[in-house]
Amino acid sequence: MKTQTNSRKYEGQCRFCRQEFTKREIIRHLDSCEKRKRNEKIKNLRLRVAAPCMPNFWLIVEVNEKAKLKDLDKLIRDVWVECCGHLSLFGNYGNEVAKRRIIMETLQPGDSIGYIYDFGSSTELIIEAVGYTNCELDDDKRIELVARNYLPPSNCQKCGVQATLVCVGCSGEREVLVCDECAEKYHNEENEEEEHYLLPLANSPRSGICGYEPSMPLDKLFEE
Ligand SMILES: [Zn+2]
Ligand SMILES: [Zn+2]
Ligand SMILES: [Zn+2]
Ligand SMILES: [Zn+2]
Repeated sequence: MKTQTNSRKYEGQCRFCRQEFTKREIIRHLDSCEKRKRNEKIKNLRLRVAAPCMPNFWLIVEVNEKAKLKDLDKLIRDVWVECCGHLSLFGNYGNEVAKRRIIMETLQPGDSIGYIYDFGSSTELIIEAVGYTNCELDDDKRIELVARNYLPPSNCQKCGVQATLVCVGCSGEREVLVCDECAEKYHNEENEEEEHYLLPLANSPRSGICGYEPSMPLDKLFEE
């Protein structure tokens, strides 16, 4: 499985050519990608969705003039955060921006807006408008995921191999990364003396929070 290797470059993949780029390079690449169609008449907006406290995680999304914030809410839920239908908002607590608003009428390049999913165990993201683009979206789509990060380095804390699970029960610590074998040996949920609660590891800033389970296998970045 492909994972990030350089802890300061935060690599990910372009959905069109499936090549690897750093978080910084990808923005420029998307305009020169050979697999994309360009059209001078199109002026779409490119957004970066990021987790401010977890820089490994990023999505690049493009929207046309019809896309609303509710379309972006749905995309973020589908790709990254949906666990049990919590509430979400754009803006901040007490200063919410209506989801019916058209994104391109709300954000211009250089602007950013907050996003909060779940007001209890919240996942807080920031959406930055990074520029206009004349690249086409797939047929009839108003909004599209065009690039995203690989799974950040996540090795089992006991033995060092690629983790597959997160234990959120172990006392005192944040989520503990676990492989299948060590899960059986050390994180036995039937163990009555210690608390263990295993969730599947996810390529998402919501990994290990509430009951979050990824919608796709760990090595799959895009739907098709
Ligand atoms: Zn590409
Ligand atoms: Zn939940
Ligand atoms: Zn292990
Ligand atoms: Zn545990």
